[in-house]
Amino acid sequence: MTLWFIRGIRRGVVTTRYPARPDASARFLPTPPAFRVPALTRETAARLAATCPSGALRTEGSELVYDVGRCTACGRCAAEAPAAVQSSGEFELAATGRSELIKRIPVRGTT
Ligand code: SF4
Repeated sequence: MTLWFIRGIRRGVVTTRYPARPDASARFLPTPPAFRVPALTRETAARLAATCPSGALRTEGSELVYDVGRCTACGRCAAEAPAAVQSSGEFELAATGRSELIKRIPVRGTT
């Protein structure tokens, strides 16, 4: 710790170079989910909606509605159905309107 402190004072750099350059530690951050549509059945979508603690996932007809604005990137959905959900690896999310954060993902009709 002391070594890093002294190095920072000598070089005048006390933070990473982000956002000018990607920070290597970013790959360890939890990120919101990405969905694999071919593996997303109605049964899986219902399980995902029931698993999500923040209410970011809900089913609506033949769609899984994903509210990115409510997602806390907890990873429970990916743990529940790893064949249908994986971590997106993307944490730099921004939108100019709330409605842009609502994603509608088609769900296969069978179980
Ligand atoms: S990562 Fe967590 S909060 Fe986000 S959609 Fe999945 S279960 Fe919900």
